[in-house]
Amino acid sequence: MIDRAAHRRGHPRWLDEALRSEHARLVLVWRDRNLVGGEGRVPTPVLLSAHVHPDLTVDREVVFLGVDAHGPLFAVDLSERDDLQPPDGRLEDLRMAGAFMPRDDFDLLATARGLCGWNRRTRYCERCGGALAFANAGFKRVCAEGHEVFPRTDPAVMILVTRGDRCVLARQPRFPPGMFSALAGFVEPGESLEDCVKRETLEEVGIEVDAPRYAASQGWPFPQSLMLSFVAEATRETITRDDEELEDARWVSRAELRDVFEKRSRDFFVPPPMSLAHPLIRGFAYEEG
Ligand SMILES: [Zn+2]
Repeated sequence: MIDRAAHRRGHPRWLDEALRSEHARLVLVWRDRNLVGGEGRVPTPVLLSAHVHPDLTVDREVVFLGVDAHGPLFAVDLSERDDLQPPDGRLEDLRMAGAFMPRDDFDLLATARGLCGWNRRTRYCERCGGALAFANAGFKRVCAEGHEVFPRTDPAVMILVTRGDRCVLARQPRFPPGMFSALAGFVEPGESLEDCVKRETLEEVGIEVDAPRYAASQGWPFPQSLMLSFVAEATRETITRDDEELEDARWVSRAELRDVFEKRSRDFFVPPPMSLAHPLIRGFAYEEG
């Protein structure tokens, strides 16, 4: 678990010393990829020792991620290199590589990717058009006029619509073949999370829901979302699917879900453990929480 130690971000001298300490480690980001190692389907983050790779640390914008039990952690973005040959490990997209990762590993790499991507994309001030400079250890950018820009996080809801012993699972066209998940959508300006849950459910499957209940949240910086999951009770069963957004939507019973989780059935599958959808659907299947 990492302590973000936000109070250190405004202290360049402390950051400089931390970066040069023998305990400093770097999380390397290259475009939309993170550096990972290990065999099999659970890659592990590869953390580079900062003082062993001094070429990665000098004269660069380095994001301070925080401190863990072993020392300070920084993220460095090498996206400007055309062809990066990392000293250890391989570069992979966390959306795929992170599917079965422990949550702490996933969150560390996701934070590095999100902040590096935001700094890379956010070049000009929205108010005056001036160039923005790196500030606050990567958590702010500032133009010559002093206008400040902070990393954005866009809230999105995930909704498990339930009625008695069944819930609604749906397929978006971009899903891998056979995968079904809960409903999802972005929060609009001026909208509460509860109203968003009701609107998205009505839009996607034509069902009105009562009293959405918050379940859990997860940072999902692909590129800059925060997912918030809800369980909501349907007032009726008839599904009227939005066939632009969804290519299938159906009621699934707890027994069918348990068969899927326990691999007795291969009719369909649900998102991997790292997706917030997994514990949401699993919790319903086993009547947890
Ligand atoms: Zn400005």
